[in-house]
Amino acid sequence: MTNKAKGPSGGIMKARFVSRFALASVIASATFSAACHNTAQEPTTPGIGESTAARVQAAQPTTISPPTMPTAVSPPAMAQGSVAMPSQAEIQRMLEAARTKYESVTEGKNADYIPALAKVDSKLFGIAVVLANGEVVETGDTNAPFAIESISKVFALSRLIEDKGAADVEKAIGVNATGQPFNSVLAVELNQMNKEHPAGNPLVNAGAITTVALVPARSGAERWDRIKKTMDAFAGRQLSVDEEVYKSETATNTHNRGIAYLLQSYEVIKGDPSEALDIYTRECSVSVTARDLAMMGATLANGGTNPVTHQRIVSPDTASHVLAMMMTGGLYETTGTWVYRVGVPAKSGVGGGILAVVPGKYAIAAFSPPLDKAGNSVRAQRAIESIVQDTSGSLFAARPMGGSPTATKPASGTTPRKPATQAP
Ligand code: GLN
Repeated sequence: MTNKAKGPSGGIMKARFVSRFALASVIASATFSAACHNTAQEPTTPGIGESTAARVQAAQPTTISPPTMPTAVSPPAMAQGSVAMPSQAEIQRMLEAARTKYESVTEGKNADYIPALAKVDSKLFGIAVVLANGEVVETGDTNAPFAIESISKVFALSRLIEDKGAADVEKAIGVNATGQPFNSVLAVELNQMNKEHPAGNPLVNAGAITTVALVPARSGAERWDRIKKTMDAFAGRQLSVDEEVYKSETATNTHNRGIAYLLQSYEVIKGDPSEALDIYTRECSVSVTARDLAMMGATLANGGTNPVTHQRIVSPDTASHVLAMMMTGGLYETTGTWVYRVGVPAKSGVGGGILAVVPGKYAIAAFSPPLDKAGNSVRAQRAIESIVQDTSGSLFAARPMGGSPTATKPASGTTPRKPATQAP
């Protein structure tokens, strides 16, 4: 089978997944078409058969939340930070400089535990920025479709927080970083043992499968439809599922199946775990371009309103909570490194995409299939880091306060401190 092929990094990745699982078992035994998304219908929901849907319908509570599609409102103006945004031409130059600098990087390997992802051209590299006014600046392969994978978790979470509220999601799933790989069974076990939320948080697989299970709907088909339409609305166009990726992932997702049933055993997933897993796998198989992703991120940057269609997809409060989750866990166990170096919320997917958001200013998406050991695109991380730095986008950009002369003095052990009364 193709998924047994062992590239240097991919092989490590696969082996690492297995060993985490084994360790967990030991521990366990010890203890843009502005209007199209509004009218577009998902013609079929293959994979969610009638019988499953009927079974789910019977098992679901009868309370149904209001319709998911947002109503059109004027977009809030994006807040201006203290540092002015560079012009579109300057951003274009920054994007091109980053692409030129990093396109020759050969580190990393395509994900190989999902066979369809191993075949994607490793050379593809695209970077797109969507600005506050909806303008797109892009370079490279920004129209190449790829599987959104884990970045979909952001939009399913947006749906759930919008439907149930931030407090309920915190209570039902948890919001703390696991510090473990995205598909860690060990994290589920440790949380359960420590009387924390077994699902961890909505951006790891356990939490994301739980997120899907909790989206209010009368049937599995409706649940999928609501998640998919939310993704479409964020993107401002009707997205489609890459059926090859979906089939490939369905045929090989035994580890995620283990997680789903483990969560059922801890009564976190109360419905049919295989249905939640199927919808989760389907959302991961949605095909996007770097341009789509940047538009989806710009909607979050803009407080939940798509800057091009002007549709309010989720509330500013929901968008803020989703961005907070991206900041604390968007790149899994290497999120700390990311935040330390780059300082903006981001989310990666094993398809090679990374989406980063500078709230109130812009979103940037980069796509390049080869991944590091944690499953994050190597070139996409570097490109985004460089552009966020060039635009002074870090949310932790500390600056002297108030313009006082004392504020601009370099800190030094040899410089005598001014009396506190003279401090700004
Ligand atoms: N569908 C993938 C999985 O569940 C998503 C993982 C990812 O992108 N990090 O393994």
